[in-house]
Amino acid sequence: MSADLRIDPSRLLDRIRSLGQVGALPGGGVCRLALTEEDRRGRDRVRGWMEELGLEVGVDPLGNVVGVWPGTEPGPPVMTGSHIDTVRTGGLYDGNLGVLAGLEVIETLQRAGVRPRRSLAVGFFTNEEGARFAPDMMGSLYFVGALPLRQARAVVGIDGKSVGEALDAIGYAGASPPMAVHAFVELHVEQGPVLEEEGVTIGVVEGVQGISWTEFTVTGISNHAGTTPLRLRHDAGWVAGSLIQYVRTMALELGGDQIATVGSLRLHPDLVNVIPNRAVFTVDLRNTDEAVLQQAEARLHAHVRALAEQEGVTVAHRSLARFEPVSFEPELVDRIEATALRLGHTTRRMPSGAGHDAQMLARICPAAMIFVPSVRGISHNVAEHTDPADLEAGANVLLQVMCELAT
Ligand SMILES: [Zn+2]
Repeated sequence: MSADLRIDPSRLLDRIRSLGQVGALPGGGVCRLALTEEDRRGRDRVRGWMEELGLEVGVDPLGNVVGVWPGTEPGPPVMTGSHIDTVRTGGLYDGNLGVLAGLEVIETLQRAGVRPRRSLAVGFFTNEEGARFAPDMMGSLYFVGALPLRQARAVVGIDGKSVGEALDAIGYAGASPPMAVHAFVELHVEQGPVLEEEGVTIGVVEGVQGISWTEFTVTGISNHAGTTPLRLRHDAGWVAGSLIQYVRTMALELGGDQIATVGSLRLHPDLVNVIPNRAVFTVDLRNTDEAVLQQAEARLHAHVRALAEQEGVTVAHRSLARFEPVSFEPELVDRIEATALRLGHTTRRMPSGAGHDAQMLARICPAAMIFVPSVRGISHNVAEHTDPADLEAGANVLLQVMCELAT
């Protein structure tokens, strides 16, 4: 019976637009930095909708808000949700879609008179964006017990106010205790160009990429660019340039999801007729597979050493960031894919290039994500857009997956 249910796309779109009016920017887009007055007004609006649906709304001490619709049997809920805080120049969909689609799923079931066996929950997590307070995904990190409350409240934001002060000021430091979750599924806009480029409607997210950032400093010898024979050079710039070339080749050879970027490069003394004596550059490696990511790191370092030896220069390096990849629950990923195909949508398995609350929830329960296309891949931008038909498709996949999990 619930297999034939579909969400109401106009009701979903109305809520997205209504929430988008809170903190709306003059030329479009929205600014609701975490725990600001705008965020409070956004929270109040969504909380109001939760209460209208008769959900049991709880606010935890870090301001995460969860609405639970009890099932016919006790036990931890099947949960969905995301965040409603935005960057300073945010769009209407990043985060908001996942929360409002969760409300839409519950309203659809309620109106159809279908009450699932397991409870359903929809939540929004505090400070996912990290645009005011670091780290990002703060609320979900606390939610899964990986960040102490005292430590989170002490974080000072870009405006000098602490998380604790800001939470108290907007009245969102609640008392709900930690909760168990049966499974977590998050619907989100892709925030990248892949789905649109390939004409695919549903991104089946298998995990979140691991990140490895390294800064290299190559030290050679400066000399006259006209008089120094090539065989006698110790050219730091050549090593850097060769490395830029190499990381692309290496990523292609490793295949799969491996990507590699040299995003910053500075040569010294940076003059037209002087062989560079110093090159400082960064390498950004990402992969969803930790073993391959480690291979990429090993190959990168071996190649740097070989180049340095060949050119007679020295190389120093330091790590700027290192996060292991997160793999979503394979069974849940399969279920999302099968459901999307059953609903007649095109699908593509993909990693998430950005961090999301679901990767934190994956620490305490089976978790996975559904992506829908972002027009021209634009996000964290007032021009962020997703076609209404794609919003509808994503929400229907969410509806069916949650129904299956709750039955
Ligand atoms: Zn987001």
